[in-house]
Amino acid sequence: MDFEEENRMMVEYQLKRRGISDEKVLNAFLKVKRHLFVPKDLERYAYDDCPLPIGEGQTISQPYIIGLMLQLLELRENDVVLEIGTGSGYQTALLAEIVRLVYTIERNETLAQRAKNKFEELGYKNIVLEVGDGTKGWTKEEIEFDGIIVSAAAPKVPEPLFSQLKIGGRMVIPIGSRTFQRLHKITKLEDGNMKVEYSDGCMFVPLIGEYGW
Ligand code: SAM
Repeated sequence: MDFEEENRMMVEYQLKRRGISDEKVLNAFLKVKRHLFVPKDLERYAYDDCPLPIGEGQTISQPYIIGLMLQLLELRENDVVLEIGTGSGYQTALLAEIVRLVYTIERNETLAQRAKNKFEELGYKNIVLEVGDGTKGWTKEEIEFDGIIVSAAAPKVPEPLFSQLKIGGRMVIPIGSRTFQRLHKITKLEDGNMKVEYSDGCMFVPLIGEYGW
């Protein structure tokens, strides 16, 4: 199987032709290989246009949805980003290719350990991973993030996450019911208020935690 070619086709047909145009995002997708983040027996489906099971009842998201979320975040090289729901670590690695520093929280210990091993194996030095309830945000230190990306479905914006966003910072989060959500782009305005913009419909696994389901 020619994974290089499949990856290029994925970027062309699933991302570019559906409106993902941020070069930083497209370059990250060209660099990070999705087949390295799925179970061995599903490798041949790694570049398909769909989510895939990664064990523990969880999924690696559809490439297009990840591309759209990363584009909505309007990432810059110097940004510090918080990701909730590390899962396989694929999206974390994409983020790590684009921004300076990525903090990521996963509640499932098995998935977190697997992702940690993968980051070490691939040589990522700008990813900090914690196991815990990401709805409470980053609790170890006080950090204000340029961007926050939530990769699981929330009933509403978790308050601790909004408070950890910088003025001008962006959060992308699927909000809705347990079965269907809409991607929301939340921006923290100068006066501390929230600007909300709506994007595509989507179906994520639930965000389980104190400020989630
Ligand atoms: N973007 C990931 C990838 O590239 O593989 C896929 C994330 S998967 C759709 C959602 C993840 O969120 C699951 O691994 C799940 O365990 C995790 N999760 C759910 N609730 C969480 C919480 N409160 N804190 C941290 N992780 C959570």
